[in-house]
Amino acid sequence: MTTLHPIARLPEEWSEWVAARGERSFRAGAIFRWIHARGVTDPARMTDLSLALRTALSDDGLGPTAAVGVVRQSVDGTRKLVVTMGDGAAVESVLIPGVTGKNKHVDDADAAAAPDDDDDEDDGGVVRVSQCISTQVGCAMACAFCASGVAGLKRHLGPEEIVGQVLLAKQLLRPGEQLRNVVLMGMGEPLHNYEATRRALRLMTHPDGVGLSSRRVTVSTSGLVPEIARLGEDFGGQIGLAVSLHATDDETRSRLMPINRKYPIAALLGALRAYPLPKRRRITIEYTLVSGKNDSPPEAKKLVKLLAGLPVKINLIPMNPISASTLGPPDRARVAAFQRVLTDAGYSCFVRKRRGDDVAAACGQLALEGAAPRTRVNRG
Ligand code: SAH
Repeated sequence: MTTLHPIARLPEEWSEWVAARGERSFRAGAIFRWIHARGVTDPARMTDLSLALRTALSDDGLGPTAAVGVVRQSVDGTRKLVVTMGDGAAVESVLIPGVTGKNKHVDDADAAAAPDDDDDEDDGGVVRVSQCISTQVGCAMACAFCASGVAGLKRHLGPEEIVGQVLLAKQLLRPGEQLRNVVLMGMGEPLHNYEATRRALRLMTHPDGVGLSSRRVTVSTSGLVPEIARLGEDFGGQIGLAVSLHATDDETRSRLMPINRKYPIAALLGALRAYPLPKRRRITIEYTLVSGKNDSPPEAKKLVKLLAGLPVKINLIPMNPISASTLGPPDRARVAAFQRVLTDAGYSCFVRKRRGDDVAAACGQLALEGAAPRTRVNRG
């Protein structure tokens, strides 16, 4: 096993670490809270710890693993962060300011980023922010319409680098903003980096840390069947699940998503049926509409049949053009016709708005080519 970065340690592991150094056990919680609740990774700033303990933490390698190099803000308020890791590798993360207490129901098109937002607490105009984070540098899945897979997988991210994106984002929130949802929908296939993803999920949902509720954290997958089962078991179905389906027959799906050759549609739907979803919650089905490939009304009808009996909501994503491909989105009318078939059949089905398009932060545009810096913050 590779050694864990200190940021990746859970409170019980800090307990052992603290005990091994003859420190009192409550220090474990204090260290975890410094890092994960307050976002402080520099031991020198952990002022209520003894100098000996702070030194031990730096000797152990505690320090920032990531820095935000570039922030680009879209006209729609979406902020794209380019997060640079210790070895210079960079991934992208997107902050999507959503919905205030007042108008949250208007903004349902952000449903994928705001899973099942059905609580009605009065949060007095707080701006809820959703964050999209990456789990790998590049991606091995090679989906035909996605920029992240063009150059293949460069490397997995460690759990500290995955949760690190959330810690950084929290520091970039503006007054009145609150991080509400995290979606693992950035670069990479989270379930292809399962161990690191699982640990990052445990870290960000720990009540003493960032404290996200598991139902507000969603893993999006291209459909790795065995790992969907593992995720279900490991978290009792509490973590939100989004699945990239994108086609209704194996031939089309395999063409768009090579992973389908390994885990065809029937196997994938079997995994969704077996996912131990809590009552009243739904799996998100993502369906990227690619002109002339998967966007016909008969395909919409086929989708209705395929999903029958599954507790799902459907997110239609008109394909965002990418430079590596001539594929593109259907026109509005065709998108609307596809949606109508699904809503007429009783599904809740939204067309995802293009957020952050102008800064290449929209789905599938998260590759680093041409990420010209606009503002620089937190360097170093
Ligand atoms: N690997 C995971 C998560 C990353 S992609 C997955 O496949 O689900 C997040 C979503 O954006 C997926 O549904 C993906 O298929 C979709 N997507 C990728 N490229 C896109 C593009 N160019 N236009 C629209 N959606 C795209």
